[in-house]
Amino acid sequence: MTDAAAPAHPAATSAALPTFEDVRAAASRLKGVAHRTPVLGSRTIDEQLGARLFFKCENLQRIGAFKFRGAYNALSQFTPEQRKGGALAFSSGNHAQAVALAAQLLDMPALIVMPEDAPASKMAATRGYGAQVVTYDRFTEDREAIARKLAAERGMTLIPPYNHRDVIAGQGTAVMELLEEVPDLDYLFVCLGGGGLLSGSLLAANALAPQCKVIGVEPEAGNDVQQSLRAGHIVKIDTPRTIADGAQTQAPGDITFAIIQQRVSDVLTVNDEQLVEAMRFYAERMKIVVEPTGALSLAAAIHGNVPLAGKRVGIVISGGNVDLQRFSQLLSD
Ligand SMILES: *Cc1c(COP(=O)(O)O)cnc(C)c1O
Repeated sequence: MTDAAAPAHPAATSAALPTFEDVRAAASRLKGVAHRTPVLGSRTIDEQLGARLFFKCENLQRIGAFKFRGAYNALSQFTPEQRKGGALAFSSGNHAQAVALAAQLLDMPALIVMPEDAPASKMAATRGYGAQVVTYDRFTEDREAIARKLAAERGMTLIPPYNHRDVIAGQGTAVMELLEEVPDLDYLFVCLGGGGLLSGSLLAANALAPQCKVIGVEPEAGNDVQQSLRAGHIVKIDTPRTIADGAQTQAPGDITFAIIQQRVSDVLTVNDEQLVEAMRFYAERMKIVVEPTGALSLAAAIHGNVPLAGKRVGIVISGGNVDLQRFSQLLSD
């Protein structure tokens, strides 16, 4: 386990880092806008692990994932000038829909830059929230350059999917809600891609439940955060091959990594087979649809060799967006 008490670069980054106060402020902006998602339990898994598990169901959040929280928190703080220009994001996943819906609710334009081979269902969903979608060729064009050019031309504000203080603060509100309902957790397992959800969760957990050990969970093939923690600096990997498409990040951001490095108890990994097993458990036993990335947290609680017997354990289910054909394919293999 990393030593949570020994921040590596406190002076370099701490001035810019978001705090629990930012999470609290985000919660008041999101009140009545984001769903307060339910916390579910399962006697089956409790008996299997000899622990009590509390599942925070962000698969039931608006747009089907926690990302609505961060996007809305960021866009709702735009200046009148920024609102006129609108929001821009590059994403083919849940962040695209989150920014599109937040922009629609706040009555501002949104433009999403997506690869032209992104699933048609995702493009349609994003357009359904009123966003304009611009496509690019993943193999020949640089999406960040395209996004920067469009943002400059149209006076739009680019909102990144995780490395942004308002996004992080918004994501932290899910665990803040969980801890308001279940204050005495011993462990908390959080799905981990670029680290927006984990760093926000760490801010909330350290403030509300300092005894709680927070564990981030990455796909085994994409353990960029684990490698970065071991190296003591951000390590960039090739785009990983995994069914956890929401966690195919190549590296954490400087803000998310600084928070994770200071506060996390551990980062674990699970493989695709273990993700499918957790998805099957959710569907069969809890009657909920969870996408592969959303199953990271439970898969590590089952397979991560953490001594959970007799403990109270929070599990963040991060999202449920998987098309049904793919879902049944994964479960039948
Ligand atoms: C984006 C996403 C993640 C990873 O979140 P980060 O903030 O990038 O770590 C996990 N699960 C789902 C469902 C997501 O959409």
